[in-house]
Amino acid sequence: METILKINNLNKIYNKRVHAVKNVSFEIKKGNVYGILGPNGSGKSTTLGIVLNVVNKTSGDFEWFGGKVETHDALKKVGAIIERPNFYPYMTAKENLELVCKIKGTPFSKVTEKLELVGLLERQNDKFRTYSLGMKQRLAIASALLNDPEILILDEPTNGLDPQGIRQIRDIIREIASHGTTILLASHLLDEVQKVCSHVVVLRKGEMLYQGSVNDMIENNSFFELKSNDISKLKTVLQSHPAVEKIVDEEDKILVYVKQDIPSSELNSYLFEQNIVLEHLVKRKNSLEEQFLELIKN
Ligand code: ADP
Ligand code: MG
Repeated sequence: METILKINNLNKIYNKRVHAVKNVSFEIKKGNVYGILGPNGSGKSTTLGIVLNVVNKTSGDFEWFGGKVETHDALKKVGAIIERPNFYPYMTAKENLELVCKIKGTPFSKVTEKLELVGLLERQNDKFRTYSLGMKQRLAIASALLNDPEILILDEPTNGLDPQGIRQIRDIIREIASHGTTILLASHLLDEVQKVCSHVVVLRKGEMLYQGSVNDMIENNSFFELKSNDISKLKTVLQSHPAVEKIVDEEDKILVYVKQDIPSSELNSYLFEQNIVLEHLVKRKNSLEEQFLELIKN
């Protein structure tokens, strides 16, 4: 798969004091939807700002499209919305986008296509100042897509929107992704990342805690709840099982975390062979939310 963006050991220190981004490295591959997930102040916007050339990095490097083109030219193939959408208030949505077309050298025919995509075609002749925040955000997305960029970058795309506005934006993001456009979005909302992203980079205080597919983040975290009449023997036997990573006591049960996914039946028959009869066996999965909280707690 083609690499769109590669970031290596990126660091940003503001005013020689605030270490906002710490040794962050990740890669964006064509056709995926990436989320940068982290609480406020974790360095999401700073990371996006650096790769978009609006924030100077302190050290490390990044490379667009395999490094074949200068960042300045590469950014012509990037659509980004990192600030509140701003257009001319007394011009209509259509006029605003036609102006963007003139600046970008894109044919006016794109305006209808993109307004349709974001569900604003019927409102194209209304002035921008009459738009709701959600409509403004959708217009910004249409504008960023006018020249059919390779990748769309969005910073907290649903901030400040009502539930209906949030749903509309998420549906549009999924629609854009389904056409093959790569997407990178920053969000402090786990639920948002889980709903729209295939991949996630988790940041906390500028540090990268996890990166990988959203599914793997869920898959890799199954664990078992076990009970038997001789808990200490159960623990001893489990400790010699190659897949067992750690064992945690919980009241009259133990929780068994495994390095890789194994079926309940396999664990059960293994224990039975060692003369352990279980009274209780349940396989559980951490929700992404539990995992996120687990990751970001100290
Ligand atoms: P996020 O987007 O995840 O909320 P930011 O990248 O905006 O995080 O901020 C990361 C850290 O860098 C925070 O501690 C923030 O206060 C600090 N920061 C961001 N921008 C600046 C700036 N222009 N000058 C100084 N510190 C900044
Ligand atoms: Mg931010």
